[in-house]
Amino acid sequence: MDVTPTPETTPIEGAAPASAPVPLPEPKLGALARLAPEPMKVVLNWGRRYSLWVFNFGLACCAIEFIAASMARHDFIRLGVIPFAPGPRQADLMIVSGTVTDKMAPAVKRLYEQMPEPKYVISFGACSNCGGPYWDSYSVTKGVDQIIPVDVYVPGCPPRPEALLQGILKLQEKIARENLGARYGAGGGASVTQLTSPRVDPPVPGGTPPTPGGSA
Ligand code: SF4
Repeated sequence: MDVTPTPETTPIEGAAPASAPVPLPEPKLGALARLAPEPMKVVLNWGRRYSLWVFNFGLACCAIEFIAASMARHDFIRLGVIPFAPGPRQADLMIVSGTVTDKMAPAVKRLYEQMPEPKYVISFGACSNCGGPYWDSYSVTKGVDQIIPVDVYVPGCPPRPEALLQGILKLQEKIARENLGARYGAGGGASVTQLTSPRVDPPVPGGTPPTPGGSA
């Protein structure tokens, strides 16, 4: 549909020249959802929660448990989770499973930013939650929530596939209660500014243990 504004035929005093392009307002995600009647919001959230195309960011052993959860025995497709999206641009949900290293962190952040909104993240396993067994490593990020916003944390080393199913149900409960206007209204979109954890610097040999809120 052509949304180019029609030029005014009669000049208005103080108005911009007819040939000047009229700036259109930036479309804000969630604006229509905020105006929609309550039953419509329920339907929209219902559709969103049961068609989660998932992108597995498998980085270590936890990724094997993710694969197990997608297979016939645990079968998370019955929950409306569609595995193996072709890429982040087609995904609604990123599951970070495994050890995030400082070297890999920029790639995690870049692929998260390529996902369309609304988008969700599950941190699966101790490593992606907080560094896990490698919390004091010089090269391991102390939680993926230092670089991207996380919606649900699944604990364990590794968590069982049933734990991932529980995490998916928790995310779906969250989506069912969600108001996209509230989620995206103020800032205009989900962003890495909405981080749930401050950055933790790696430990200094012989120095004090790492503390939250260190320099970025
Ligand atoms: S949490 Fe445990 S099982 Fe999972 S990636 Fe880390 S070390 Fe491996």
